[in-house]
Amino acid sequence: MTTPTDAQRMEKIVSLCKRRGFIFQSSEIYGGLNGLWDYGPLGVELKRNLKNYWWRVMVHERDDVVGMDGSILMNRAVWKASGHEDTFSDPMVDCRVCKARLRADQMIEKKGVRQCPNCGSKDLTESRPFNLMFKTYVGATEDESSITYLRPETAQSIFVQFKNVLEVSRKKLPFGIAQIGKAFRNEINPRNFTFRSREFEQMELEYFCRAEEGMRLLEYWKEQRLKFYENIGIPRDTLHVKTVSDEERAFYSTGTYDIEYDFPFGRQELEGVAYRTDYDLSQHQKASGKSLEYFDEETKQRFIPHVVEPSAGVDRTVLALICEAYSEDEAPDEKGKMETRLVLRFHPRIAPIKCAVFPLLKNKEQLVAKATMRVARLDDVIGARMKSARRSARRSILKRSVRKTRACATR
Ligand code: ATP
Repeated sequence: MTTPTDAQRMEKIVSLCKRRGFIFQSSEIYGGLNGLWDYGPLGVELKRNLKNYWWRVMVHERDDVVGMDGSILMNRAVWKASGHEDTFSDPMVDCRVCKARLRADQMIEKKGVRQCPNCGSKDLTESRPFNLMFKTYVGATEDESSITYLRPETAQSIFVQFKNVLEVSRKKLPFGIAQIGKAFRNEINPRNFTFRSREFEQMELEYFCRAEEGMRLLEYWKEQRLKFYENIGIPRDTLHVKTVSDEERAFYSTGTYDIEYDFPFGRQELEGVAYRTDYDLSQHQKASGKSLEYFDEETKQRFIPHVVEPSAGVDRTVLALICEAYSEDEAPDEKGKMETRLVLRFHPRIAPIKCAVFPLLKNKEQLVAKATMRVARLDDVIGARMKSARRSARRSILKRSVRKTRACATR
């Protein structure tokens, strides 16, 4: 299903983002580079608030999730085993008339005939796979043996470190490993501002479980993630859950949901919640020859855990937050004449600036000093409130684990 698009609104948002220092084109003074963006002073604060809140909810407030921070470059064998080297591609089509290079799903179809969306020509090449990974060389020689790729997702470093993290964290199933980090995809046609970029950040959780728990946890994580978006100011009625069909789903997944948002350019994916079965760990165990099994001390069984993955895009969520916050209202100017002003109404949790104290006159030292003092005091108040909130969160986690231990002891 499609939603009405609002190109004019999107144009205004893009221009506001630049004017107010949220998002700039990367390398702008050299003409930019397609699909790459820089975050300015306000954008970086918004992005940090989002990532910190995700980390708080997904890691700090749970006793069944730990974090990690993996490297962007990894041994090429990782990408061979995961299947990315052979299959991480989009179908690409060239227009022989205007020379546009496009994703096959962007073609327009009229009376069953495919046409170029740029010039309308029907003179198109057959579609062929285009691998989205950026290739690079590690070390001083540029040959076959030094090839690797910039990671196209953060998940694989979690899978290959599964055993190390399991050993040090001593977690029992079900438990998760979370990561926030950069990912790179050489998208055929970056578009819709930051929505489809070539460099972006992901917030991913790999939640390991027993096979029989997979489908239930898929539902559980879908609901948790919907709540997350509501808690940062994206209303439930702008979010849509799409059940990814058998044909569209990765062959190893037995259930995938896309959480979509009504952007001004249409309804598009914000996050994927996928039940990836035991595919990734099995592939890495086979290719590396190292055991990635879990040992269940109660049943004395060894097996490869299954995994449910909520995978969200930082940049897409920032864009959704900006689109949601954007509003226009009427206010009087200095002369009392009503004028339209653009206002960004962010949820206080993620607003780049939460509160400000301004001196009425900039050149009055006493007033400036007073304002600075108030800001410092405000920081203390916020700090103290956060400390006490953290303390009570720790207390409830402690209570929960005491309850769990008691339950085990009485079993
Ligand atoms: P799409 O179908 O839009 O290409 P995808 O299904 O390939 O996305 P996933 O591989 O599931 O995306 O990645 C998880 C999340 O990472 C996405 O839901 C999105 O938020 C983010 N993401 C993926 N590709 C991009 C991109 N090119 N630019 C910005 N964010 C992205």
